[in-house]
Amino acid sequence: MKLGFIGLGHMGSGMARNLAAAGHEVTVWNRSREKAEALTSAGALLASSPAEAAQGAEAVFTMLADDHATEDAVFGAKGLVSALHAGAIHIASSTISTEFARHLASEHAKRKQGYLSAPVFGRPEAAAAGKLLVVVAGAKELIDRVKPLFDVIGRATFIAGAEPWQANLVKVCGNLTIIAIIETLGEVFATLKKSGVEPGVLMDAINELHGSPVYKNYGAMIVRNQFEPAGFALKLGLKDVRLVLKAADECGAPLPLASLIHDQLLAALANGQGDKDWASLAQIAARNAGV
Ligand code: NAP
Repeated sequence: MKLGFIGLGHMGSGMARNLAAAGHEVTVWNRSREKAEALTSAGALLASSPAEAAQGAEAVFTMLADDHATEDAVFGAKGLVSALHAGAIHIASSTISTEFARHLASEHAKRKQGYLSAPVFGRPEAAAAGKLLVVVAGAKELIDRVKPLFDVIGRATFIAGAEPWQANLVKVCGNLTIIAIIETLGEVFATLKKSGVEPGVLMDAINELHGSPVYKNYGAMIVRNQFEPAGFALKLGLKDVRLVLKAADECGAPLPLASLIHDQLLAALANGQGDKDWASLAQIAARNAGV
């Protein structure tokens, strides 16, 4: 397919590279041009604006930081919305708000353009390996058309519903489960360290108990106390907790754990950890325990 790909950060660069390697004609754009230039070795074509990346494309991915960055790339000067053909599809894979997803769906519909929300689970290594978990929502006919693209970037695709925002809600709820695990691991490892008990033993037991890469990989980072370079920046994690709190507020579902974690993440941000991996949230519990 002829594709556009906008946003070549930790996640987008691996996703775009895999789409190009699978034989799709991928035209890329990134605010910092050097990241786009790095993709030409994989056969990608360079665009000088989001509009140029969308010109003539059957589908365009956005994998930008947040609502604000996506808004700029879609509706700003030389934004993709001005160039995307009627019938072509915008696939937003960033973790964005449910509210903004509704706005995107409605604006694209006015122009007879297709829109899908397709956020992903998995870290940059999974993006590079084509092993993401894709959660998609939107019209079935659009999903069927681009499902082969999800098979390239991911190892499984889950359909959340016919309204795009539903995928965004699933994504931010999923991320809350991950950051809750990180908070728990931070607290228990701080307790073990404070008591002088070897934390690796609990890690071995947890891996047997839960058998999940989330426990295993984040647990290993926390035991090693190594949070740089960031695979997923803490400031983006805070953005996601804000998004889940807002979505839950809209439908009247209390999320007391998310409220607590929001404050813990704010403390981490205030301690200069915004660009560290979000697993560095564990340092707050460690600091509070004096270890
Ligand atoms: P990242 O490495 O920080 O990349 C962010 C991208 O957004 C870069 O291309 C950046 O451009 C661009 N950007 C930021 N502000 C912009 C603006 N105002 N205008 C235009 N471009 C702008 O982030 P990432 O880790 O790839 O994450 C991307 C999205 O995926 C986020 O929504 C994140 O929550 C989600 N996500 C991340 C992970 C993960 O483990 N990292 C996993 C699942 C989902 P520059 O290169 O010029 O800075």
